[in-house]
Amino acid sequence: MAKRPTARFVCQACGSVTSKWSGRCDGCGEWNTIVEEAVEPTNRESRKRAGKLTLMHLDGDLTPPPRVETSIAEFDRVLGGGLVPASVVLVGGDPGIGKSTLLLQATCALAKAGRRVLYVSGEEAVDQIRLRARRLKLDAPTLDLAASINVSEIASSLEQDREHNVVVIDSIQTMWLETIESAPGSVAQVRACAFELIRLAKTVGFSLVLVGHVTKEGALAGPRVLEHMLMPSCISKAIAGISSVSCARPRTVSGQRTRSACLP
Ligand SMILES: [Zn+2]
Repeated sequence: MAKRPTARFVCQACGSVTSKWSGRCDGCGEWNTIVEEAVEPTNRESRKRAGKLTLMHLDGDLTPPPRVETSIAEFDRVLGGGLVPASVVLVGGDPGIGKSTLLLQATCALAKAGRRVLYVSGEEAVDQIRLRARRLKLDAPTLDLAASINVSEIASSLEQDREHNVVVIDSIQTMWLETIESAPGSVAQVRACAFELIRLAKTVGFSLVLVGHVTKEGALAGPRVLEHMLMPSCISKAIAGISSVSCARPRTVSGQRTRSACLP
């Protein structure tokens, strides 16, 4: 029997996977972007424990998903009416363009409306978030804040709590899983962290908002991978180009795509 491969090679720019290392990626043509990753063998025991699919027929009832409005009209419009439980939204844009500010405003409004909201920052300390909220004259005493980059810690808190309606992760490029050997922001980390958080959103039932930074070239850093992942995972919406945050110029938020599938 042929030996199963224990490693594979992944392009950090486009996510292409090959069985051997090469200096240039066939997928995107970039040089020196291919990195070795370990392959976890499929565990038969875990497959036995996995349970069974619930099968349904095509002609069943159709109920539109409930929407949670953020009270920021423009943002809700881009979201197609608001956030959907057990769904994922990817908010992209240049660093410093106002993603965190927009989401802090949205989460404060949601918390004020009685939702249980958690804002996790991997970029700022809790005090910095509080300062920003005060500068913006936002007040929402019940908004939960946490400063962490540890996805296992975030996941186990959310799994034990199970009370949050909306969870914001700012940003996916800072998140880290100890089982993955590469650094935060690498394709392997972004993919594994996003996968874990999306899985959690679907099992616990909260709306997940992932912040993703855009590179100088205009692509979501690491996240062509994210786009691939959001495709099969429930509803997703990538908001690209929150352009220009300076007070003099208007900011625009635009929706990039909506895919809906497999809502529980
Ligand atoms: Zn590539």
